[in-house]
Amino acid sequence: MCEDFDEDFCQCPRCSGWGEIDCHCGGDLCVCENYGQASCPLCHGEGEVSEALYEKYLETQRENAQLFAEACAKIEAEKQQSN
Ligand SMILES: [Zn+2]
Ligand SMILES: [Zn+2]
Repeated sequence: MCEDFDEDFCQCPRCSGWGEIDCHCGGDLCVCENYGQASCPLCHGEGEVSEALYEKYLETQRENAQLFAEACAKIEAEKQQSN
């Protein structure tokens, strides 16, 4: 029985299940200690995350997208005011 778990696991949305991501140098010309690859900060190299964490990640992405859209709208509004 696998119903002892009350959490479902999903493929990590940050690294697509690889467990590693490009380091923040972008991989090529890496100047950090990671040689272009860093352990995924979301799944810590597991390649999968709990459903709760998955949902949280998606929510954060949505919030970021929304903040970004709001910031763009504000810039647009300011541009139009100055015309
Ligand atoms: Zn690096
Ligand atoms: Zn991951």
